Amino acid sequence: SEFVKEEFSRGTLRSKTVEDILTPLKDCFMLPSSAILDFSTMSEIMQSGYTRVPIYEEERSNIVEILYVKDLALVDPEDCTPITTITKFYNHPLHFVFNDTKLDSMLEEFKKGNSHMAIVQKVNNEGEGDPFYEVLGLVTLEDVIEEIIKSEILDE
Ligand code: ADP
Repeated sequence: SEFVKEEFSRGTLRSKTVEDILTPLKDCFMLPSSAILDFSTMSEIMQSGYTRVPIYEEERSNIVEILYVKDLALVDPEDCTPITTITKFYNHPLHFVFNDTKLDSMLEEFKKGNSHMAIVQKVNNEGEGDPFYEVLGLVTLEDVIEEIIKSEILDE
């Protein structure tokens, strides 16, 4: 019934976490903050097919900004513009969430905010050293919606 189906997807949203559905860092299409928007980089971005590209400094785990592909509309590859010129100009906010964030609160966050992407981090306190924030990957509204749809279909 509709009721059972709704309860089922609500259960999924309550119990699953962003860690269960994220795109792992190793699979994320990202660019270093040192990148130059020449023809080769612009083609790489277009060919990735993504609408948002996290920008990292030094290491992929150190995401510092986010590039929206639509911000490239007026960029001429001939100018070899540094990527940071664009990201600093638009300055889209970066959102971080913890790995144990449940999908229902993630959905609420996405509804409230204007950004539909979040960087997932966890507190890593394994090992000898001080605990540190470890970036696990990224999650988007699309991932949460996919999970809702999946659970509804499984239930049929
Ligand atoms: P897009 O609009 O770029 O297609 P969506 O928000 O629709 O992004 O997400 C589609 C899938 O792609 C999701 O699984 C999401 O985690 C993943 N994704 C989004 N951006 C990136 C990226 N830059 N690198 C790798 N995966 C990404």
